[in-house]
Amino acid sequence: MKSNTLLDVGFGLGVAECRICGLQFVPQLPEDRELHEQEHRKIIWGGLPYGIREFLKDFGWAVAQRDDLEANGKWNTEAGKRAVVFGYWARAISNGIPENEFESFMSAHFEWVDARVANDPNRIDKAAKKLKRWQKYG
Ligand SMILES: [Zn+2]
Repeated sequence: MKSNTLLDVGFGLGVAECRICGLQFVPQLPEDRELHEQEHRKIIWGGLPYGIREFLKDFGWAVAQRDDLEANGKWNTEAGKRAVVFGYWARAISNGIPENEFESFMSAHFEWVDARVANDPNRIDKAAKKLKRWQKYG
């Protein structure tokens, strides 16, 4: 297997890891190839690979909750919150959320992230209830 986008992680079993989407699969198996093509279609439609979504959310939460990162002028709490919210939006896009849900989805997720960063249990609970509307895209 020689490719710029596939890494041989095979353990002698023909397992590859796609450098684009991060999926580990066996290219010789038709069902694995189909699953892999589905992952790429989701990305083409505007989704992000799982590992990138998690990176966005983890780094976003870290920045959103740490004022000291704001000091270097490159990252601030708003950028962190935005990264977290986009991480969730990318997952919803991958799972087929209609585009006309965008504004309300983003608004509700910012409310939830704001409440979490403020560490206010009442606001968190109230905001989390609003997110249930999009649970099927999570
Ligand atoms: Zn891939």
